[in-house]
Amino acid sequence: MGIVHLLPENLINQIAAGEVVERPASVVKELIENSIDAGATEIIVDIEDGGRKLIRVTDNGCGMSREDALLSLQRHATSKISTVNDLFNISTLGFRGEALPSIASVSRLKLTSVPKGSISGTSIQIDGGKEVEVKEFGGAVGTTIEVRDLFFNTPARLKFMKSTTTELSHITETITRMAISYPSIRFIYNHNGSPIYNLPSSKDLLSRVCGMIKEEEKSFLPVSLNSKINVSGYVSGPDINRPTQKSIYIFVNGRFVRDRIILHALMDACRTVMEKDRYPLAFLFLDVPPSDVDVNVHPAKSEVRFKKTDEIHRAVYAAILEALKGWTVRKGSGQWSAVSGQRNEFQTPDSNYQERVSEAIGRYAASNSSEPGGRSYPIPSPTLYPSGHKPLKGRELFPRLQGEGQGEGGVMGFFSSLTVLGRVGGTYIVCSTGNDLCLIDQHAAHERIAFERLKKMYGDSRPESQTLLIPEVVDLHQPREKYDSCQNQTEPRGRPQATRGFALDGGSVGERE
Ligand code: ADP
Ligand code: MG
Repeated sequence: MGIVHLLPENLINQIAAGEVVERPASVVKELIENSIDAGATEIIVDIEDGGRKLIRVTDNGCGMSREDALLSLQRHATSKISTVNDLFNISTLGFRGEALPSIASVSRLKLTSVPKGSISGTSIQIDGGKEVEVKEFGGAVGTTIEVRDLFFNTPARLKFMKSTTTELSHITETITRMAISYPSIRFIYNHNGSPIYNLPSSKDLLSRVCGMIKEEEKSFLPVSLNSKINVSGYVSGPDINRPTQKSIYIFVNGRFVRDRIILHALMDACRTVMEKDRYPLAFLFLDVPPSDVDVNVHPAKSEVRFKKTDEIHRAVYAAILEALKGWTVRKGSGQWSAVSGQRNEFQTPDSNYQERVSEAIGRYAASNSSEPGGRSYPIPSPTLYPSGHKPLKGRELFPRLQGEGQGEGGVMGFFSSLTVLGRVGGTYIVCSTGNDLCLIDQHAAHERIAFERLKKMYGDSRPESQTLLIPEVVDLHQPREKYDSCQNQTEPRGRPQATRGFALDGGSVGERE
């Protein structure tokens, strides 16, 4: 006799629950998604003991008939898709028909629902996947789902539940995401009878957001880009930031997602004004044509796959960059502040900026001169060289270029033939050559000298190097396409695979994990 057999339905549901129901917060997410898909305008969430004892979600949505209510607890029963084509055009939050049977298989679940236009409905009690009772029920239109004793019949899962505080914080985070994504829905959320959120319906995302987090509306800049991919929402300016990515909320077609590409684009744009290792507060909404995004990537539906990742990256980057232009500088204080309703170009940070840069360059040049083999550049300052100051020859200023330029044509000879007249604005070196005037970007020239020095050392096979005490990860900017191709690229044979680090490949740089 064969040993292969089909698993019982309830065991299949429990296996599915392993992916869909990770913890109480996953139950809350699935139930709220169902309420939103049912067109609810008010959702009440009652939690007891961090969700271990009770999770109850009540909505005023369309409700279910007796027949639908019974079917909804069957595996792969859904009202949201019917054909394969629907799978590639999903506009609802749910579509897999897995949540209710999975939850019911690992808890004591009671579903009560009254469909629209009716005064009576159905109540169904299921314990550990087994139907216990089905009866008539009278009440208001909508659905209530009560989940008690989660994982009571799967002790292994129960063991993984964390403290009430931890589970509650996950639930709160889940409800926060939902409430941000649907400001027009009224959310009431209680724990052990005490209110956590009572969020009235709001037309405005910002007032909903600021009703939940402790920031003022003026801390945020509107994000708005209308293209094939619409990007909207809010991002904080550079002075309102966090040490982690926790306050970045990304929604694709109303669904909260964790997406590396969108996050990468957001951070790329924010890095233009924000300190390293700091993150903005952001509430970003992307409207992507449903046919261009695959949401059927993971049972928990928190990941999506885009058809055109480069388009997504470009749109988000452009939208954030544009939003950040709405900030300008509080004169003199060096701080950034919002300019409400006005879009300004970036301005120079403050009036002392030039002086501080010149001073920093001076300090840099001085420290460079103490390096073995380094030297300072004795450029007369400030504006034009003072009378009585002996004009420098270019070869005194560009010694390395001159030394290395021999045999490479006339370019290096040209620099050393210049007579240095002075410096303008702490930035340009003014030189004369015959009857001509020549301006040299001091910073670029210095970089060139350093480059030539390194090139020579490399050529002589004696590059200076020193191992860092603590390894530093360097984030190198790269074009989007290269980033993508690096993600998909398989490692060439014979080359060791880095666990975490960077690989240089014909000029492209990709982080590998
Ligand atoms: P999915 O949401 O993927 O379709 P679920 O198992 O979560 O699968 O729900 C199954 C079906 O039950 C849904 O398609 C929907 O028709 C119905 N349903 C679930 N919850 C509600 C609700 N709160 N209000 C109305 N109908 C609901
Ligand atoms: Mg669902």
